[in-house]
Amino acid sequence: MNPKRLCLPCSCGCSVLEASYWEDEEDEIFISYYASSFYERNLNFWDRIKRKLDFLWKILTGKEYQVYEIYLCGEDVKRFKEFVESV
Ligand SMILES: [Zn+2]
Repeated sequence: MNPKRLCLPCSCGCSVLEASYWEDEEDEIFISYYASSFYERNLNFWDRIKRKLDFLWKILTGKEYQVYEIYLCGEDVKRFKEFVESV
């Protein structure tokens, strides 16, 4: 059986959210996030280092951290709601 899949790009173009589930496994859903390397490549060297050190520091000190964020708006929000409701 084929999985049901929805791919939604972030409104700013930095990433893609993918959600999928198998039709015969109604209580499971897989959510993946794909970050574009384009955004990372456009940071200068020191900004990349600072960003990674901030991230590592939060992990090492047990603080909450957000790896990435995806921004959906308009028709993509409607598509996401319909997909989740179809599980
Ligand atoms: Zn974005």
